[in-house]
Amino acid sequence: MTIVTRFPPSPTGFMHIGNARTALFNWLYARKTGGKFLVRIEDTDRERYSTEAVDIILKGLDWLGLGYDNTPVSQFEGRARHAEVAHELLKRGLAYECYCTPEELDAMREKAKTEGKPTYYDRRWRDAAPGAPKPPGIKPVIRIKSPLSGDTTVHDVVQGDVTVKNEQLDDFIILRSDGTPVYMLAVVVDDHDMGVTHVIRGDDHLNNTFRQNVIYDSMGWTKPTYAHLPLIHGADGAKFSKRHGAQSVDEYRLMGFLPEALNNYLMRLGWSHGDDEIITMDQAVEWFDIKDVNKSAARFDFAKLESINAHYMKMMDDSALLTLLIPFLKSHLDLDVNDTAKARLLSGMKDLKDRAKTLIQLAEESAFYVRAIPLPMTESALKNLDAAGKETLRLLHERLSALSLWNVENIDAVCRTLANDMHGGKLGKVMMPFRAALTGSDKSPALPHVAEVLGKEETLFRLSKI
Ligand code: GLU
Repeated sequence: MTIVTRFPPSPTGFMHIGNARTALFNWLYARKTGGKFLVRIEDTDRERYSTEAVDIILKGLDWLGLGYDNTPVSQFEGRARHAEVAHELLKRGLAYECYCTPEELDAMREKAKTEGKPTYYDRRWRDAAPGAPKPPGIKPVIRIKSPLSGDTTVHDVVQGDVTVKNEQLDDFIILRSDGTPVYMLAVVVDDHDMGVTHVIRGDDHLNNTFRQNVIYDSMGWTKPTYAHLPLIHGADGAKFSKRHGAQSVDEYRLMGFLPEALNNYLMRLGWSHGDDEIITMDQAVEWFDIKDVNKSAARFDFAKLESINAHYMKMMDDSALLTLLIPFLKSHLDLDVNDTAKARLLSGMKDLKDRAKTLIQLAEESAFYVRAIPLPMTESALKNLDAAGKETLRLLHERLSALSLWNVENIDAVCRTLANDMHGGKLGKVMMPFRAALTGSDKSPALPHVAEVLGKEETLFRLSKI
């Protein structure tokens, strides 16, 4: 049997990272089993629908590298097929027309509320005689006949067996009076028609499963295997929300996270492979199994995401990282990168990337290679440029000018000699003003290397302008 998973997002205008994790698990399971990963756009809410919103999701999948095996299916386009199934059930006597007026429904709702019942519709049209008079001017809805007694168990791969009493299932509407299908019907028909074998989704959909199973059973269709993933929580244990941090995939992209890191981080929310923190997509494809997903909610840990991102940045090829960095220098700091700056960034990348947790941090910490002087100075950098610091720089300039071979060793030797001569061997007394002059900061990669990358002319120029 070919395994078919699916990702059916509603185009809401952004891609929630919880949805990204759902997509990832579906993708992993399909890739792991040599199956198919299908995308369906649940676009039946036409008031909120826009092509941009669909684009955001497809671009999000693309950025994450979660390729899919079909042209994304539009749920809205399938509405005639969904209605056809509703009528089929009607014809088979497994669904029925209900002509209740809004007033009648209100009264039923009130009654159920006072009686504390889980459902309200009293099924008054379920067994109405075929020729029973129909109230004029009312267009009927179609309701499905849910089982009246017993219970239903869902064998969920993640949640285990979950059972509900059938009396909690109402005869829910499957086709509205205007002939449009409800979501519950559309999902089942689409999943069936797309040959979906495994439904892997957030556990906020677990309740829907019982109703959806009524449709599967009525149509005599084979039910998929279910795996309901625990939702992501914030560090405080509450459901992950805006106050915990960025919610959308795009926000993480803009904050300078790499897709490799986000995938690695998200897959670990609910799934693990021993104590491994770093798991590449190839390894995950090899090791992933949906049955190993944890039932308890995972907590979002921003520091861990950052440390994983730092790892992937460190592992990345320097020029590939530079290509990713350039747009951040522009968007974040409004810096254009010319060829000189590009060459400097590339030479300095190894040291720079070892220090940064995100592309934004990398942009900030590498900007001194791109900027012309005067550089913006941090306050703590300025403190190193007092009278003693300036005098040190004057002498440093003198001695560095005399260097014929401009390399790390020679620059380092000049700094050390100067520290011995002027500051009783305290190297920091040379390096800190030097750092301020070259980078505008009190933190940077090792200075001799920075000076080597900047070149003799630019280094001396920056020193002379302090
Ligand atoms: N469209 C639903 C959502 O975005 C997914 C429904 C499902 O997975 O069955 O939450």
